[in-house]
Amino acid sequence: MRPDILNPLFAETDTLDGVGPKLRKPLKKLGLTRIRDMIYHLPERFVMRRRVDSLDEAGIGEQIIVALTPTQHKASSGRGPYRVLAQDQIGNVVSLTFFGRASYSARKQLPAGEKRWIVGRLDQYGDMLQIVHPDHILDEPDASLDRVCEPVYALSEGLTQPRIAGLIEQALTRTPDLPEWIEPSKAAKDDWPAWREALHLAHRGEHEAARERLAYDELLANSIALLLVRADNRRRKGRALAGDGSLREKLALPFALTGAQARSIREIEGDLQQEAPMLRLLQGDVGAGKTVVALSAMLIAAEAGAQSAMLAPTEILARQHFETLRRMAAPTGVRMALLTGRDKGRAREATLMGLMDGSIDIVVGTHAIFQDTVAYRDLALVVIDEQHRFGVAQRLMLASKGRRAPHTLAMTATPIPRTLTLAQYGELDVSKLDELPPGRQAIDTRVAGLDRMSEIVDGVARHVEKGGQAYWVCPMVRDNDAVGDDIAAAEARYAALRERFGDDVALVHGQLAPEVKDAAMERFVANEAKILVATTVIEVGVDVPNATLMIIEQAERFGLAQLHQLRGRVGRGAAKSVCMLLRGETLSETARERLALMRETQDGFRLAEEDLRLRGGGELLGTRQSGDNAFRIASLDQITRLLPKAHDDARLLIERDGGLTGERGEAARILLYLFERDYGVQLLRGG
Ligand code: ADP
Ligand code: MG
Repeated sequence: MRPDILNPLFAETDTLDGVGPKLRKPLKKLGLTRIRDMIYHLPERFVMRRRVDSLDEAGIGEQIIVALTPTQHKASSGRGPYRVLAQDQIGNVVSLTFFGRASYSARKQLPAGEKRWIVGRLDQYGDMLQIVHPDHILDEPDASLDRVCEPVYALSEGLTQPRIAGLIEQALTRTPDLPEWIEPSKAAKDDWPAWREALHLAHRGEHEAARERLAYDELLANSIALLLVRADNRRRKGRALAGDGSLREKLALPFALTGAQARSIREIEGDLQQEAPMLRLLQGDVGAGKTVVALSAMLIAAEAGAQSAMLAPTEILARQHFETLRRMAAPTGVRMALLTGRDKGRAREATLMGLMDGSIDIVVGTHAIFQDTVAYRDLALVVIDEQHRFGVAQRLMLASKGRRAPHTLAMTATPIPRTLTLAQYGELDVSKLDELPPGRQAIDTRVAGLDRMSEIVDGVARHVEKGGQAYWVCPMVRDNDAVGDDIAAAEARYAALRERFGDDVALVHGQLAPEVKDAAMERFVANEAKILVATTVIEVGVDVPNATLMIIEQAERFGLAQLHQLRGRVGRGAAKSVCMLLRGETLSETARERLALMRETQDGFRLAEEDLRLRGGGELLGTRQSGDNAFRIASLDQITRLLPKAHDDARLLIERDGGLTGERGEAARILLYLFERDYGVQLLRGG
């Protein structure tokens, strides 16, 4: 249970004065649903303002506070702005300029002939001075004018700076004093303020020490949670699995294992022979061949008479894995089943029975395989595919639900930058597939404008005529609650391509009925459909080697890591593959850089590092939504500098106070709840 002291922080933002249905949505868009989120919505920067007596004292572009008297209101004809001409005390004329709806309030707030204090940025328009949308218009100079340093927050539509600043101010008054969880000598050495004070300071001005402390808190919470997961795992007894090779030798693979695959399998085999449960991460770029490594691990378990479960992030992937594994493992006679939330009725019952009585050796599925209703006779190995889609630690905990902890193999195609492996995985053992299967050709990546659409479509037609298949990925709409637009884009493209290609085109997106989605996917896998129009649901894992052409529309909207994943759907066979990145007309500098990098390299590690650099640490590898590994407060720079120390501190704390029962331990528990890493605490209770 969450400590009571934190309750005010976990109250909904609706409980703030002035937050009604209208503000709820823009706040939610920013992820601000609770008081806690508000106080951690730190300013992006600060503007420094200067009080001036006349405009002569101010430079163009400067943020100023000045007393002005409106003289004339000028509504524009047509779509132009609404202007209020005003004079300073020595007669300089400036236009206060308003666009759109803002003009309504301007009419009321700026009556002609009455002096007002205006706060905003002085600009020049032609030969006229102007201030566009002043930040504040005040009748009387009040305290806010003395705040020459004002925070600038990230906004969403429907919010203004003063509005959000007011709400945060209110949220801050509800902030309790919390006991100190940082080692006192460490806090003292760096001159770090206490938690509550640090929050206040961070909203008031550039305060390095306060920001550092808050970032450190986040890193410390993460490190403690990961270490608790790890410690819990060590305490549990697993089961040593010694395979005799009898099943593996029957595998009839159409290729020889790469050195990296063979090495990884040996490392896993070594772990499985121990009683301590394995916690290993298999890291391999897209197409590196993780599936066969996973299969080998599961065969080892089967050889030892135990069951394995493989968890996939999506239905599509679960099905595909099941088919692939079944085909590969057919000669071994191992018994395999598929279990997803969609399986119902008798088939499901049969699978559940088989898992319970041990007649199924390997089950592949979505999270349904861990539901309470699913009982295993002897589950000894859990493989988690593409785990970056999940919260890592939560999954590990899930996997260790049973009394005898199963061995866990997590697989990821996301090359985690070295600086961040520690942050994300704590002290997991890592096997790396750092070698691609032989014969792979570099993917020819090109960037083209959307205006060349008809040429592109002709290209697809030629590709299909020659027997090839293609993916067509539709733009991603950034806002979370606008997934509908992704789908609209995919459906429109599908309709357009159908006019030309008829039944050769298939469509998959997240909102299709499951059977429809499966059917489309199956048609593409079976080479009945030649073109698969999709949203990013195909991002991970899907494997159709004959598809050697990938079109990504509005590629500038995707992050680098995601583009890399998408592109990884092609280039999986021996044939030359092409990836076309179609871009819109206007590109930000970052977007331009991303596309250039995509053309330049196929090295997942390099792209991940660059992705991180371009996005900053706040949005780690596009996994912000997973809620587990995203650092919202610590910047990349802070992660790099502070994480090793936080990790050491966490380790010391746990070594000294493994149950987190001492004074600092109790404080650390509060920290874990504050950052919602409380699964760590739950492990404490269990153990
Ligand atoms: P990922 O690591 O992305 O999950 P997969 O396991 O799906 O990669 O493998 C990608 C493709 O490479 C598959 O078609 C697989 O059969 C093939 N493959 C895997 N290992 C080898 C190998 N050693 N030699 C040749 N092809 C391989
Ligand atoms: Mg895979």
